[in-house]
Amino acid sequence: VHEDPRVNGTILLAVRRDFNALYAEAFAQHVPRESIRVWPFEGPLDDCECVVTYRPPEGLFARLPELRLIASAGAGADGVLGAAGLPTGVPIMRTLDPQLPQAMTHFVVAVVLRHLRRLHEHAAAQTRAEWGRVDLGVLRPATIGILGLGELGTHAARAFVALGYPVLGWSRTPRAIEGVECFAGDAGLAPMLARSEVLVCLLPLTPGTRRILNRDLFARLPRGAYVVNVGRGEHLAEDDLVPAIDSGQLTGAALDVFVTEPLPAAHAFWRHPKIFVTPHVATFNRPEQCAAQVVANLRRVRAGEPIHNEVHRHRGY
Ligand code: NAP
Repeated sequence: VHEDPRVNGTILLAVRRDFNALYAEAFAQHVPRESIRVWPFEGPLDDCECVVTYRPPEGLFARLPELRLIASAGAGADGVLGAAGLPTGVPIMRTLDPQLPQAMTHFVVAVVLRHLRRLHEHAAAQTRAEWGRVDLGVLRPATIGILGLGELGTHAARAFVALGYPVLGWSRTPRAIEGVECFAGDAGLAPMLARSEVLVCLLPLTPGTRRILNRDLFARLPRGAYVVNVGRGEHLAEDDLVPAIDSGQLTGAALDVFVTEPLPAAHAFWRHPKIFVTPHVATFNRPEQCAAQVVANLRRVRAGEPIHNEVHRHRGY
């Protein structure tokens, strides 16, 4: 094992132009500065051993013949897996900040309770100095359905259980989570949807989950259901959402992710009164966590050991 990364090669940071400097600082805490390169880089990159990226820029991989590790700076690796020229045989990791599940849970609970307790209506009434008590009807906890029972979905499901909500969850392979009624695979989806009064998407974006939030799925939810998308924008068939809300099939939606980010100013979602838009802020990985996890995995690669937080190409996440 070579402890000094200079012996083996350099780490290329190609995260996002406005973030690369932050990442360079974070990586410098773990490796010598001279072994860090920042994209776009004019000189040769033949000695580059590892690249850290989110959506790989065009032509990136063609310049990296000695790559031994590809790291997604995000928790989702869809950007990396979908990149042109992705080399085969090089292990891929994702970054999973230990604070990510809790931070995501806080966000999801906040938007779900905003909807269920109709806090947005009180916010609107306050702008009119209006003492308008919103009638919540019977205070029966709504059934929460969670698509995806991975690191994030499991954490959120447990939190809703602790708050006293009936919780249903859906995954690709069968899962068992105390207090959560778990469903799996294609056959498990319909029965889970039929009872989900609030549906939260915490899936990774794969060919099997792209546009899963579509007209057919909305029709299978109880009338008046609410949809929360904190996965990826491409999980939602965007054109299907407004008709489903305007017909009353859905009561509304909270969206943190979009097909095009930033969401274009002219997009209908901005102005729809029943769509709550947030600018992809549910949670994020800290650069220092990314640096620590990448460097630890690089050491594992050099030692011939399996990496942590590996992304499996065949299953797509
Ligand atoms: P994860 O640990 O990889 O878990 C993924 C879950 O989805 C697993 O339960 C998996 O099933 C399930 N799944 C995958 N494909 C499926 C399919 N075709 N049918 C049914 N279930 C399927 O992922 P995570 O860490 O929880 O993260 C989930 C996603 O959240 C990320 O990929 C990312 O896109 C998104 N995210 C968003 C933000 C934000 O700020 N908005 C921040 C971080 C992450 P198995 O259990 O059977 O494997």
